[in-house]
This record gives sequence, structure tokens and C-alpha cells, in this order.
Amino acid sequence: MEHRDLLGGFIRLHILHHAAQHEIFGMWMIEELARHGYKLSPGTIYPILHGMEKRGYLSVRVERDGRTERKLYAITPYGRQGLELARLRVQELVGKRHKAAEA
Ligand SMILES: [Zn+2]
Repeated sequence: MEHRDLLGGFIRLHILHHAAQHEIFGMWMIEELARHGYKLSPGTIYPILHGMEKRGYLSVRVERDGRTERKLYAITPYGRQGLELARLRVQELVGKRHKAAEA
């Protein structure tokens, strides 16, 4: 994906945003992000989800359906905190109040 380093934070925020509404899983997240113009492969999304779980933003549970196993992720209280803070930061960046300090 182009500009991946730059956009990586937005991808994680998208994940948190949706995980705050309902449990998510890798393939669902890939499709959702594709709607927003982010093209991610399973090889990219799974390490991101795993990393966010390790950092305490997401909790995970495994659902078994016969032979298939699916990892379902939900936001944690720490994740909600991070999401709130990031929302403020985004508003600051794109909002009307974003002016450079006067010289
Ligand atoms: Zn979305």
C-alpha cells in the first residue's frame, strides 16, 4: 500500500473505531478498509491486529466452527481511551482551530 507508514495510524484508528461498535475479525476488517480505499492483505492485517492486542488496545477470543477457527477482536477500555484521544487529535488537525501560532 502506498504511504503505508503515514497512513498506518489511521488504519489502526479505523480498526479501533469498528471494534468499539462490535467484534471484528481479519477478513471483515480487510473488506471494510477496502471500502475506505485502503488495500490490505491478510498478511498485513493479522500482524496489525495481533500487535494491537499485545499493546492492550484489543482483546481477542477464538470462535470455533467445525474445523475453522476465527479470532474475534473487541476494543478494551485502554483502546477506548486511545480512540478518544486520537479523535481529539484528528479534529485538531482538520478543524477550524488549526492555525499556526502567531509570530
Ligand atoms: Zn470504517
